[in-house]
Formats: sequence, C-alpha cells, structure tokens
Amino acid sequence: MIESQLKIDLHVHTDDSSDSTISLNEVVAYARIRGLDGVAITNHDSTYGALELAERAPELIVISGVEVSTSGGHVIALNATRPITANLSPSETIQEIHEAGGIAVAAHPTTVYKGMGRHVNGGFDAIEVVNASAFPFFLSTRLSQRLAVRLGLPQTGGSDAHHASEIGSAYTLVDATPDVDSIVRAIKQNKTAPIGQPIKWRQRFERGWLGLKRRF
Ligand SMILES: [Zn+2]
Ligand SMILES: [Zn+2]
Repeated sequence: MIESQLKIDLHVHTDDSSDSTISLNEVVAYARIRGLDGVAITNHDSTYGALELAERAPELIVISGVEVSTSGGHVIALNATRPITANLSPSETIQEIHEAGGIAVAAHPTTVYKGMGRHVNGGFDAIEVVNASAFPFFLSTRLSQRLAVRLGLPQTGGSDAHHASEIGSAYTLVDATPDVDSIVRAIKQNKTAPIGQPIKWRQRFERGWLGLKRRF
C-alpha cells in the first residue's frame, strides 16, 4: 500500500470517561467533519470504545488506546494488546505497555495539572507536544516541544476532546499506510508532525472548572 500523510487525532475521550460526553456516533460524525483519517480512543484507565467504534465505522482508522494514570502523571498507551495497570510509576507503566506490544506517549507533559514534568525520560516512544486542551496552551506546547527535542523523541498531537466539537482541534500528521500497525511504527520512527490549536474559551468554560481539574 502507498504511504501518505494521514491526519490522526491521537487523544479522544468518549462517554466511558466520566468527564466526557462524546458518544461513538459523535466521534464518527466529527472525524468526518474535521477531515480526520483516524482517531485513537484514549479513555482514562479503560480500553472501552475502540473496538466498538471500529465495528461501527470501518472507513475510519481506529487505534485502541488508554490514558493510564501513573504516580507521575498521565501516559497514553497506544495499540497495547491487554489492559495496563493504573497508578504504577511512569517507568513501570512504560515497561508494561512495551510488554503488551504498545507504545507509550507522555500525555500533556508540561501542563500545570497532571503533567509529568521531571518524570519524562527517554524511555517514552513519543511526547504529546500539542494537546488542544492543555492549559496554558502556547506555553505548554513550547515547553513540550523543547522537551521532545532534548530527549530526541517523536512529537504527537491530539485534541484530548471531552466534548464532540473539540475532536480534531489538534492532531498528528503521520507518514504511513492507512493501517494501525503502520501508523504506530511510523510514530516510533519519528515520521510525525503535531498540529493544532487550543480549544475555544467557550468550550473550556462549558467543561466547568471542576471538570477541567478532573480532566488533566
Ligand atoms: Zn485525556
Ligand atoms: Zn490527561
């Protein structure tokens, strides 16, 4: 199959996350509206959603993911073949993700809440540099980019959407063939570019301050 530049939102929550309202049908609808080739479903400590979505929308590339809580912040596991234990240290989490055949991405590492900060190390496969929900957005994007460059790691982007209209506000351009294994391989090989804008202030207010604190 021919390699092309695919547009993938690598960080989407669905209504399986208590702080998200997005239904699987809305993921399909907004992925189409935003011109995405695919999404990674990354609920908090749950792998729910990806399989169901893939069955419902065969035209969409669906990557199975989970946003794992660790003692040092959030880690996104992509394409792991089994559930990942929550609340371990970042290094233990990375090891478990690798043993499960997945890749480990440091989620919003420089945000003020649930950022990984000093816990980010070269053991990760990639750094989420653009997170549309990150606050403060421009500063955390710049700091995350600097971190990725310093560690020599690939850079990804995702919306961290919790409401449907946020889907695709950030995404990753990946040079790969349109299948999950090729995309995951391409991320590891640094064939990525993170793109995106912050979610709108109105969307931030709609989440409410409590939701915002819970979400990061
Ligand atoms: Zn998230
Ligand atoms: Zn998070």
